[in-house]
Amino acid sequence: MKSERKEAQKYFNKVPGQWDALYSHENRLKYAINKWLRKGLFRRYKLTFEYCSDLTGARVLDIGCGTGRYSIECAKRGAGRIVGIDFAPSMIKCFPNSLKTFAEFIKKKGIAIPPVRSISCTGENLYAHQRKLFEETFGGEVFEKVGTRESGVFACECKAHKGMHVFTEGVFLEILNGEGQPAQPGEIGKVIITDLFNKAMPLIRYDIGDMAAASDGRICDCGNPLPLIEKLLGRDRDIILDSYGDPKPGYLFTEVVLNKNLSAQFQIVQPDKKSLVVKIKNGGAVGVDLPKLRAEFQEIVGPLVKVDFNFVTEIPRDPSGKYRYVLSKVEH
Ligand SMILES: [Zn+2]
Repeated sequence: MKSERKEAQKYFNKVPGQWDALYSHENRLKYAINKWLRKGLFRRYKLTFEYCSDLTGARVLDIGCGTGRYSIECAKRGAGRIVGIDFAPSMIKCFPNSLKTFAEFIKKKGIAIPPVRSISCTGENLYAHQRKLFEETFGGEVFEKVGTRESGVFACECKAHKGMHVFTEGVFLEILNGEGQPAQPGEIGKVIITDLFNKAMPLIRYDIGDMAAASDGRICDCGNPLPLIEKLLGRDRDIILDSYGDPKPGYLFTEVVLNKNLSAQFQIVQPDKKSLVVKIKNGGAVGVDLPKLRAEFQEIVGPLVKVDFNFVTEIPRDPSGKYRYVLSKVEH
């Protein structure tokens, strides 16, 4: 049984890449031979998209999607929502904090796993330390994407990893500052979307609760002309207001803590505009220079926000199961 499972795992690890290689134009002779020997395969692809030439707004379930060859073409043809399913364990899709727990378990136990090709993260803020951990543990490239249950995924990181491309075929996206005006390049604002495919219940100028920095309109290094979101900063609950009411992204604070090698769970809470509480799970701050940590936080939030520590026995997750490093209770 064990060896059968291993065989199946080996097969599904290898197959998506092999199928993809059949379509590759890299070697023209090989491509011509494949096209001649595997006429049925190429005919199937051609017929599929002859019958499904316009997929505008369609929902597609791509069973056995492999590396996503059909799914990508469906997206190019305007499909509104695509779900790909495959046995291949070469791709991981997960909330970052759940994957972090899994990665730490694998590392701790010294379990050898076959490397994956890509790791897709969504649903929670993805931090630099998590990206590094996932790439080290699973061997694949990490891609962040963003969406809502109402609209599906509407922006995704590309291979250049310098922001996320907005899928403008399906969504009209605005980033508005505190005055409700379009944010200037680099300025942090609310992400507002208008869903272009939802005919049953159109969402017009829908505030999804996420904050992002507006792009300067540059074309991405990858050559894809779809516009970029500079950096997704998470929910407005992940944004801390400084002494002057200016928004500061949560990762500024988490990076300060992580650079101190704090071993325990922590959470940075802003209960009101004048205070910031750093919750640390009991016993986890041994050897950490807390006055220095406080001073670094103070430097970010300015003199009018009081920084305090609170040692706790438990830091609960959200009801949705998400773990929040930063939690603002202040209305933005
Ligand atoms: Zn790109």
